[in-house]
Amino acid sequence: TTMQTVAVLGATGSIGSSALDVIARHPGRLRASVLAAGSNVDALLGLCRRHRPDHAAIADPDLHAALRDGLAAARLPTQAHAGMDAIAELASGDACQTVVAAIVGAAGLDSTLAAARAGKRLLLANKESLVLAGELLMAAAREGGACIVPIDSEHNAIFQCLPEAGAGDWGPGTGESSCPRHDGLRRIVLTASGGPFRGRSREQLADVTPAQAIAHPKWSMGPKISVDSATLMNKGLEVIEAHHLFGLPGDRIDVLVHPQSLVHSLVEFIDGSTLAQLGLPDMRTALAVGFGWPRRIESGVAGLDLLAHGRLDFEAPDTDAFPCLRLAYAALEAGGTAPATLNAANEVAVSSFLQGRIGFLSIPALVEETLAALPAAPAASLDALRDADVRARSHAMKLSTRMTAT
Ligand code: NDP
Ligand code: MG
Repeated sequence: TTMQTVAVLGATGSIGSSALDVIARHPGRLRASVLAAGSNVDALLGLCRRHRPDHAAIADPDLHAALRDGLAAARLPTQAHAGMDAIAELASGDACQTVVAAIVGAAGLDSTLAAARAGKRLLLANKESLVLAGELLMAAAREGGACIVPIDSEHNAIFQCLPEAGAGDWGPGTGESSCPRHDGLRRIVLTASGGPFRGRSREQLADVTPAQAIAHPKWSMGPKISVDSATLMNKGLEVIEAHHLFGLPGDRIDVLVHPQSLVHSLVEFIDGSTLAQLGLPDMRTALAVGFGWPRRIESGVAGLDLLAHGRLDFEAPDTDAFPCLRLAYAALEAGGTAPATLNAANEVAVSSFLQGRIGFLSIPALVEETLAALPAAPAASLDALRDADVRARSHAMKLSTRMTAT
């Protein structure tokens, strides 16, 4: 086997640490050659000591010297870089063959796009980039010859159930929309844990705190996606993500709440067959699928003991208590810049909530008001989408300040 060099973007995060765990289990096959983070230099330096990459990059340009000096003090051979452009350059250059896109939020778009254009094996966790610019990203992957393996557990499950997906050697993202992957596929069903507040009414959600919202019952994840899980916006973003990855319209993408989080998603065919992928809720499985595909490699995750779990439950999502899911379907339907607006407003709302400046119920309110104030325009170019993103952020910030004041 040849060595696969890997750039882990968002190395200091939850997905980043799971990716590095899997990489470290395969010293002859996988090597972390690039590590990138946002601003946590100390954590990044710690990872460099352990994994000895060729390059380390920090997004905040003011931290270049701190990173460089830290690497020198530790006598590491690692080269220091800083800035978002440097991260995108490393993700698309010779320093890696595979890119784990695990930066959180729209901040991940540039490096994800660069990796797609450069034809990398792209292990895509950064769902916001697909929500914001799904068509462009999929087109870039097609043109660049990149193979996208979705890392989001639901989409990774669907990927595993549709091995013929895509017209390329393997993986979706390499096929035309006319490719055989649609043959016989009726719908896909994304499962959702329901988050920490499953079963609560709208009234019972008014006073929940950030600490309660990020205490996810089944998955251990970064703060932003944890809040998204609590509002069901995460599932809404995933519906849009699935639309781009698998080429299905919103009305053929369903959501089912499954509190045990063992069935990661399902695919239904026209002959009545339903295929599902099951496993423990541990992202290392999806990452190992991405690194090894089309082969299977060890992930460190144990198999499923169904007897010990006993039962699998399913229920319909409650979109009255959790309107974010409905808002995301509506944004997908509206098309154009609407998903970019939805995503940007949500990023602002979640960060305001985490800072204790707005309440939990203000998250969907803020997203809904931003979508209403900024009607969808055609998403003609990347610039149009970036512009929609910027305008939605500034509108949402104003709304958030007003909500804080009242
Ligand atoms: P975390 O908050 O745990 O980690 C975020 C990572 O992104 C950190 O390494 C952070 O660096 C880095 N980062 C933040 N801003 C920037 C920036 N401007 N430039 C470069 N790097 C930046 O998030 P998660 O690991 O939970 O999630 C990452 C992505 O994966 C998200 O898009 C999420 O939706 C998706 N995902 C996550 C899952 C999970 O289980 N956690 C499951 C499915 C999808 P620093 O530490 O320096 O701030
Ligand atoms: Mg998911």
